[in-house]
Amino acid sequence: MDSAPGAPLSRSRPWPPRSAYLHIPFCHRRCFYCDFPVVPLGDRADGDHSASIRSYLTLLESEIAAAGEGPPLSTVYLGGGTPSLLTPGQVGRLLGALDRRFGLAAGAEISLELDPASFDVPRLRGYLAAGVNRVSLGGQSFDDGVLLALGRRHRAEELAQAIAWLQQARGLGLRSWSLDLIQGLPLSAGATATAVQDHWQVQLRTAIEAGAPHLSIYDLIVEPGTVFERRQQRGELLLPDDDLSADLMALTWAELVAAGYGHYEISNYAVPGHASRHNRVYWSGAGWWGFGMGATGAPWGRRQPRPRTRQGYATWLEQGQVPSPAIAREPSMPLDERLMVGLRRREGVNGAALLAAEGVGPEAVAALRGRLRPYMQAGWLRLEGSRWRLSDPDGLALSNAVLREILAWWQEQPQRSLGD
Ligand code: SF4
Repeated sequence: MDSAPGAPLSRSRPWPPRSAYLHIPFCHRRCFYCDFPVVPLGDRADGDHSASIRSYLTLLESEIAAAGEGPPLSTVYLGGGTPSLLTPGQVGRLLGALDRRFGLAAGAEISLELDPASFDVPRLRGYLAAGVNRVSLGGQSFDDGVLLALGRRHRAEELAQAIAWLQQARGLGLRSWSLDLIQGLPLSAGATATAVQDHWQVQLRTAIEAGAPHLSIYDLIVEPGTVFERRQQRGELLLPDDDLSADLMALTWAELVAAGYGHYEISNYAVPGHASRHNRVYWSGAGWWGFGMGATGAPWGRRQPRPRTRQGYATWLEQGQVPSPAIAREPSMPLDERLMVGLRRREGVNGAALLAAEGVGPEAVAALRGRLRPYMQAGWLRLEGSRWRLSDPDGLALSNAVLREILAWWQEQPQRSLGD
């Protein structure tokens, strides 16, 4: 949330959650790279009449009603899955359930993920009338060949149409929208590094020309159990090596910064005034409610994952396992995790305050500094007073190496059991 960015991630002074994530697991089909908790409905699924969707929403509403007390919500995010398989009425009902339980603060950011091939203008207007004011569009690529290779259902023409509708909707209450793009795509046989970079540059420039005020740029990761993992095991999936990945990341930064975007988090860029308030919650250390199959909430810092299958989630609810406020107030996110999520942000994290709040002794602090010294000497990690910050773009691009050092240091600490 906007009120919290840059504040210290302190275990001793948790903020009450003012944000909620709702997981809508339905998709037409599972994309080849996706390991999210998803319920594929088939290509002919109709959100208006799906008994499957209706029964899930009943479960979701019951979980919201059983949640602990909390102040009015400043941000709400309906993600998935494909939330645009819900009707506007269903979205409005979920927002009503949140409003009854917590209240929705005036000016709250209400985001909905949309899949380009799953909505039209009347449906978009309906979502806005229901209270949605920000949209995240799962575009991924403007290239039909890439979309096909990823197992996506939509095509570039539908993405362009969806973008045109979003642009028209700005006078109807849509405050902002974001476009997802995947960087580091599978390589076609014989593709040169230059060809890969040229292709990616076209994607970035198309997104800029489309006027996307916010871009989320994700690296393709091969997750266990996916079609891509099986292809990789058979030697049929070729991905960019580390050097090419770094070049693509540098190209992304150069193109988007030149176009006026700010790089406010490793994977996220926004023109001024369009950074996602909800995203910032995850990286600031503030708590959030999570509702739904596979959703993770952290109302007071400690992460609370839910079962990833629909049946498991239903059983979990039946057995009354919704975390009670007393449980939710137990010790929060482990220190290493709070350092890592804080360093994902451009403004960094108050590392000194975190270590002090945790009671980390001088020897352990010195050990951590020793591990991080090579990165500081290279200029990738900056310790500016109490604030720790990765340089942009080089430090953020190499963040995984820094985060691995922090994790290794934490594994050596006897006090890590406090947060585990
Ligand atoms: S649309 Fe999104 S959530 Fe659904 S299968 Fe594809 S990547 Fe996963």
